[in-house]
Amino acid sequence: MNLLSSRNCLFCPRQCAVDRSLSQTGYCNCNNEPLVSNIFLHKGEEPVISGRKGICNVFFSHCNLQCIYCQNYQISINDAHEKSWLTDTDMIVNKISEQLDRGVKLLGFVSPSHQVGAMVRIIENVWNRGYRPIIVYNSNGYDNVEILKELDGIVDVYLPDFKYFDNKLGQKYSNVNNYFEVASKAVREMYRQKGSTIILDDDGLIESGVIVRHLVLPGCESDSINVLEYISNEITPFLHISLMAQYFPTEKSKSDSLLNRKLKKWEYDIVIQKMEEIGFDGWIQELESSDYYKPDFLCNTPFKDNINN
Ligand code: SF4
Repeated sequence: MNLLSSRNCLFCPRQCAVDRSLSQTGYCNCNNEPLVSNIFLHKGEEPVISGRKGICNVFFSHCNLQCIYCQNYQISINDAHEKSWLTDTDMIVNKISEQLDRGVKLLGFVSPSHQVGAMVRIIENVWNRGYRPIIVYNSNGYDNVEILKELDGIVDVYLPDFKYFDNKLGQKYSNVNNYFEVASKAVREMYRQKGSTIILDDDGLIESGVIVRHLVLPGCESDSINVLEYISNEITPFLHISLMAQYFPTEKSKSDSLLNRKLKKWEYDIVIQKMEEIGFDGWIQELESSDYYKPDFLCNTPFKDNINN
């Protein structure tokens, strides 16, 4: 069975098994064609990813989770659709080529899990045009391990989230009851493929590796600590971690008793302390990042500040 075929969609662990080639849609409300909201140069990722020139990021629309606090909600909600969104692979690759022609070395796919077949077709098309960018797979961690195995040799850098240790949080905030089991298996597979070493080029840009992102949510600092301890004890303490503080309440999350405010300094500090105690390598985002990290995907420059964290 070709797992990257959308005829019986098992792209993600929701396992809808719909035939997307016949325009049937499952949870993510995507058919067989790519659905891309934005392609642009992003300078606000981790320094080894953005470098000085930035990464060419392809933002897929819709998502296989639907977190109530999604910071990219304008493009991730499954019933959203904008006329400007791209569905033609050639047009998408044309836009990517414009960036690669300017010397951008990294090509990132943001929220690819539910459009992984389209992602691979885009990459093959990019390769056929003679480009060999570093491919970054930037997912929410709710990935099918069998699909990840198919990506071995295609993806250079895995940049997954590891959102929750407690499945109750996943159920409450991301509409999924097995986030922890899925994400822990996915990160383990990414680590199997790439190891814990990050390979950098002469300019300090990543060429290969895994960076696990964790967004600390208000009132959930003990869950964050459990995530870090789990990675350290059960996967490896040598993975690179990117700790994030950019959470801000969205329309959907501002009515939640925990998520109706930004993160407090003391909450973030104890998670930082745990990260340092374990000795993880990586990056710690500034607490103040929530003041400027408010992307607007309905304008041409979604990330106004585009500041390296
Ligand atoms: S990718 Fe979409 S259709 Fe396929 S299993 Fe996941 S949610 Fe369902």
